[in-house]
Amino acid sequence: MRLESLTTGRLAPVADRVPVLNEHYKHHSATDVLSHALNDPAVGRVALVSSFGAESVVLLHLLSVIKPDTPVLFVDTQMLFPETMAYQQELAASLPLTDIRTIRADQAAVDFDDPDGTLHQFSTDSCCNLRKTVPLEKALGGFDAWITGRKRFQASTRSTLNFFEEDGEHRMKINPLAHWGREDIEEYIVNNRLPRHPLVAKGYPSIGCAPCTSPVKPGEDPRAGRWRGSDKTECGIHFINGKAVRMVPAKESAA
Ligand code: SF4
Repeated sequence: MRLESLTTGRLAPVADRVPVLNEHYKHHSATDVLSHALNDPAVGRVALVSSFGAESVVLLHLLSVIKPDTPVLFVDTQMLFPETMAYQQELAASLPLTDIRTIRADQAAVDFDDPDGTLHQFSTDSCCNLRKTVPLEKALGGFDAWITGRKRFQASTRSTLNFFEEDGEHRMKINPLAHWGREDIEEYIVNNRLPRHPLVAKGYPSIGCAPCTSPVKPGEDPRAGRWRGSDKTECGIHFINGKAVRMVPAKESAA
């Protein structure tokens, strides 16, 4: 199957490319998948979406080694922990990444929908939509694929996660770390002497916005501190045909 049209230069439908790429790369390493995704015209224009959270440094470092001019999209909801903002600055300064883009909601929309910053107390879905989903969808408009840090071990709903996934009709998600375990992450960070998010040592194995993230007790699911006490399980950064949708009934996120 030809994945890229030689006559028009246009990409074949995502639904055709994803199974071919997964079959081809099923025995490859995270580094191979990432290198391929960043250089193969059949994948198209690629960005990394990073929360600069607990494990984000692994992909950011890999990217800085393989292709440091790849766009990195950082969604600043303006509700993040000060520690996350400081860590983002630290990594941006220390890694040789040359195209980190900070994505924020349109200020007029925030002023209208959440003027006092309390929307999350009444509707977390509306708040995530305003501060994460809409700005990211807009930012991804110029890309054919985005790289995520999702892994199989993180949730039962991710247990069959593949390297390449459809993300609507026109875009794909790439999950180079799909097969990595917690130990792999730890080993990579230690071996490469990478800085850690300061909140990890304070009991936050998964880090989102400050109002919606709490520490996790020993034995709890790593994502138990996200939207604790509510039915909300993911931030909505999943799209079908350009629209945000809820994909799974379990603790999920894009990061
Ligand atoms: S995680 Fe909480 S504060 Fe952040 S965008 Fe979603 S609802 Fe708003």
